[in-house]
Amino acid sequence: MNWTEGYIGFGMAVFAAVLCVSYWRKRQARRSRELAPFPASWRDLLSRRLKLLGRLSPEQRRMHERRVMEFLADIRIKGCNDFLVTEEVRVLIAGYACLMLLRPDAYVFRGLRTVLVYPTAFWVRHHEPDAIGLVSDEPELRLGESWNGERVVLSWEDVEAALAGDAVNVLVHEFAHQLDAENPDTEGAPLLPDYGRWSKVMSAEFKALEQRSSQVIDDYGLEGPTEFFAVATEAYFQRGTELRLLHPQLYGLLRDYYRIETSD
Ligand SMILES: [Zn+2]
Repeated sequence: MNWTEGYIGFGMAVFAAVLCVSYWRKRQARRSRELAPFPASWRDLLSRRLKLLGRLSPEQRRMHERRVMEFLADIRIKGCNDFLVTEEVRVLIAGYACLMLLRPDAYVFRGLRTVLVYPTAFWVRHHEPDAIGLVSDEPELRLGESWNGERVVLSWEDVEAALAGDAVNVLVHEFAHQLDAENPDTEGAPLLPDYGRWSKVMSAEFKALEQRSSQVIDDYGLEGPTEFFAVATEAYFQRGTELRLLHPQLYGLLRDYYRIETSD
């Protein structure tokens, strides 16, 4: 072995050791999350603020709590415009988002790295062309945003309104976009073992909305399949009873996907 080979060999050994340490650290972190008990104060907070939590089976409650821990360990929640991210804010965001992950095989928002929280609706200036190719410099007021599989932005005032029962739920809307992004090959559908029923029901409901406005599904859904899935998810979580009565096929589809009954 000459010196060059020696250096290469040494370098490879160091690289392998670094990979090993990082692998074991990750595994240790995962293991300690599995072993750490769910804080009683978090359980109390979520039971008080998330009304739907009472509908979960004991098995689903355990799964939900594991996912909340995983969410908080892996995804950074950061305040913008001087918004202070308290423990309560963190736990409520994770708790609400993980209500959308009751499927045993669900990923905890694979690819999502950061949630940015503004105190209220925020102004953004985007330079992408719109549907007809126009690029505008005019700032727009937003309640939330979802950047493909990477970042969610929320207005806390509007998350609070959703927690209080408002028909608009920016949190489930933006996290539905994250679920949609888990399968880059589909638009307006999350990862599913079979797309037959999903596409049949969603297409029929989309066409029906084109013909006539719905009392529960926002017309904004007509922007395209991606927005339709997001506004249908809002209706499902905020107005489950009306959705079941007026759009039983869509309600059934979303119930089978989200695995929670939101209708009275
Ligand atoms: Zn949207």
